[in-house]
Amino acid sequence: MPMTTLTDDLPAIYGALSAAFGHQHWWPAKTAFETMVGAILAQNVSWTNAAQAVASLESAGMLDPGRLAAADAGDIARLIVSSRFYNQKAERIREFARVYVTEFQADPAVMAATGTEALRERLLSLPGLGKETVDTILLYACEKPVFVVDAYTRRVFTRYGLLPEKASYDRTQRLFADNLNPDAELFNDYHAQIVHLGKTVCRKSPLCDRCPIRVVHRSLRCAGAPE
Ligand code: SF4
Repeated sequence: MPMTTLTDDLPAIYGALSAAFGHQHWWPAKTAFETMVGAILAQNVSWTNAAQAVASLESAGMLDPGRLAAADAGDIARLIVSSRFYNQKAERIREFARVYVTEFQADPAVMAATGTEALRERLLSLPGLGKETVDTILLYACEKPVFVVDAYTRRVFTRYGLLPEKASYDRTQRLFADNLNPDAELFNDYHAQIVHLGKTVCRKSPLCDRCPIRVVHRSLRCAGAPE
């Protein structure tokens, strides 16, 4: 059996996913700032709930960095109830908006021009912004080649046999960062494909018989699927 390497396997897995599901066209937002706010609203909740909160902010004219930075947290909270944890998220969004206005001139190009590591550290220092949220902002709003890790990523690649059980965020991220070209376009759609797979096929009870990556080619198959 020919040997393969992760630098061959990870692109091959992406190829099989995108051939099956088509390009996912993420992130579903009209502006970079909407993406940033959406990333915070999507913490620990389905995208449907987060999207309702984004729409509610927009229809109230509040999807605006200056207005959010100056708003009363209670007023923001009332608009984002659908996103759950709305009081915490209101504080997080307001503080994020304040930093976005004061340090990045409310300009996504200014934010994107900041070095990736420095920007990541600054955003991680803000209240309630963890690695998944910050990396989502870096990739989807700033187009930085930073791979986003979520529960679906861990589940799929642990089952596949490419990650140990209970791999940390950093360990999981390194799997992709070390074995793929640092390409924001690729990282964008790869993460979206994994989420789609995790939601529809590699669920808690996996539907392996309909999985597009169960067998990618004769030396690349999922270790977790039944023979
Ligand atoms: S073959 Fe099964 S366990 Fe493996 S990735 Fe697909 S759905 Fe998940």
